[in-house]
Amino acid sequence: MLTVGGYIRISDIGRLGDGRDGKEGLIRQREDVYDLAKLMRCNVHRMYEDKDASAYKRHVKRNDFEAMVIDLERGLISGILAYNIDRIARQPRDLERLIDIYEQARRPMAFATTSGDYDLTTADGRFQARIYVTIANKFSADAARRVARQKLAEAGDGRPHKGQRAFGWMDSVRIDEREAELLTIARKDIIDGKKVATVHREWTELGIRSPQTPPGKTIGYTSVKYVLRNPRLCGYRAYIPQEVRERSGRVDPVEWLIERTDGTPVRGQWETIFTPDEWRELVDVLDARTKTGKGRKAGSTVTKRLLTSIARCGKCGSGLSSGTYARGTTSYEKYGYYYYCRKADGGCGSLSRSGPPVEDYMEKALLGNLMEQTTSLQSAPKEDPEPAAAKATLKQIEADKVEARRLRADGLFSLAEFVREIRRLEEKEQETKEKVSDLSAAPARAGSTAARVVREWGNYTIDMKREEIRKRVEAVVVQPVGKGGAQRGAFRPDLIEIIWK
Ligand SMILES: [Zn+2]
Repeated sequence: MLTVGGYIRISDIGRLGDGRDGKEGLIRQREDVYDLAKLMRCNVHRMYEDKDASAYKRHVKRNDFEAMVIDLERGLISGILAYNIDRIARQPRDLERLIDIYEQARRPMAFATTSGDYDLTTADGRFQARIYVTIANKFSADAARRVARQKLAEAGDGRPHKGQRAFGWMDSVRIDEREAELLTIARKDIIDGKKVATVHREWTELGIRSPQTPPGKTIGYTSVKYVLRNPRLCGYRAYIPQEVRERSGRVDPVEWLIERTDGTPVRGQWETIFTPDEWRELVDVLDARTKTGKGRKAGSTVTKRLLTSIARCGKCGSGLSSGTYARGTTSYEKYGYYYYCRKADGGCGSLSRSGPPVEDYMEKALLGNLMEQTTSLQSAPKEDPEPAAAKATLKQIEADKVEARRLRADGLFSLAEFVREIRRLEEKEQETKEKVSDLSAAPARAGSTAARVVREWGNYTIDMKREEIRKRVEAVVVQPVGKGGAQRGAFRPDLIEIIWK
C-alpha cells in the first residue's frame, strides 16, 4: 500500500465556481481525496491544505505545497491525490518541480485526481499536464466543466434535480399519488413473477404517459423498465457525468449511485415511494431476468451461493436467496452479494445480510467442529474417500466445460476467453486424473472422513462444500438486526445460529 499526500487548496473568493471553495469546498475536497485513496488503495499520510485569496499572483507562497514537495522528495510520501490538477499546480514552474521528482523517483509512485486528469507517473500524462498548465493561466477554465462539477456537488448534497419531473412525482419533491400507486403495484407484481412487458401492456391500456413520452403517445416499454429501476424511488441519488451520457446513450443509473465517504448512499430531500430494500429487491429481480434472458421462476436463483436455502430467515423461516449489490457501491466492492428473504419464494421479504461474513463464519464453525471429531475419533473407519472426491471434481469439471460452451454460444465469452477457460479446465482434469492414479498406487492413507474434509476444504467447489454442510447442518438461521441496529455495521456472529444435525 502506497503512502501518499492529499493536496487541497481553496480560494476565499470562490471564483472557480466548482463548489470546491470556501468552507464547504474544503470539506468536499477532503472527501474527494479520501474517496480516491480508497479507490487506489493508498494510505493518506497527511492532508496538505493551502488557502490562497490571490490565486493568480505568482509570489504567494503556498506553505503546505512547499512542505508536500519536500516530503515527496524525501520519500515520506510516494504520491499526490487531489481534486484536480488546477488545485495542485497553478504555475508551470510548480509543475516542473513535481515532474522532476516523479521522473527521478526510483520507487513506485502514485498520482491521481478526481477528474482523472494527467497522470504524472506516465510520460504521456506529464506531457499533457505541461500543456494544460501552460495554457490554463491564459484562458479561463472550461465553463462546461464547471457546470458539470457544480451539478455533481448538488447531487452529492442530495438536492433534487432541476428540470423535468420524474415519473412518480408531480415536481422535484412531491409524490404523484396515481403514478406512485402504479409503481407500487408493478413492483409487487414483478417480484411475484409478472413480466415487464405485461406491466407495459396494462399501463398502455390505461393511457399512462411518462414526462418523456411524446405528445399523443403512451409510455414505451424501455421507459417502463427505466422508471422501475430509478434509484430516486427510494431516495437514492445518482449522478451520470455528461461525457458518459453522451458516449453511451441511455445509462443505467443504478450503476452511478452517489455515496458519502462512509459508503452510505446519498439520500435525497424528496418524498420516496419505496424503501431502499424494496427498491433493491426489485432491481435484483429485473437484473436476474436480463442475465438469464427470461423471467425468473419462483424459487430459482441465478447464482447458487454457498448458503442459498441453507441459510434461513430468522423472522419467517424461509430459505434465503442471494442477490448482488448495485455495482459501484461500497457494499458491492466490499461484499459483492447478500442473502435475503425473498417474497417471491413465499418469504416475509424483510431480512437481508451481506454474504461473505456469514459464509466465513459458517465455514469456520464447520471446520472447527470437524477438527474436534478428528481428535475424538483417533482411528476412524477406513474408507478410501479420495477417489470419491476426485470423481466429484471430474464431474464438476465436465459441468464447467458445458457451461463454458453455452456462454460461448450465447456470445458472453469471447473466443479468447473461451479457449483460455477450456484449456484451464483440461489441465485441471489431467491433474485430477494423475492424482487418482497416484493414490490408488500408494497405500491408502488412513484418516477419518472429517480429517479429509478439513484437509481438502480449500479445493472444494461450492457444490461440494454445500454437500458437506448439508450432511452436518440442518439450517443456518440469520436473525434480524432489530430496531436501531445498523444493517451496515460490523458483522454480528451473535445473530447467526447454526442448527447442527
Ligand atoms: Zn423472512
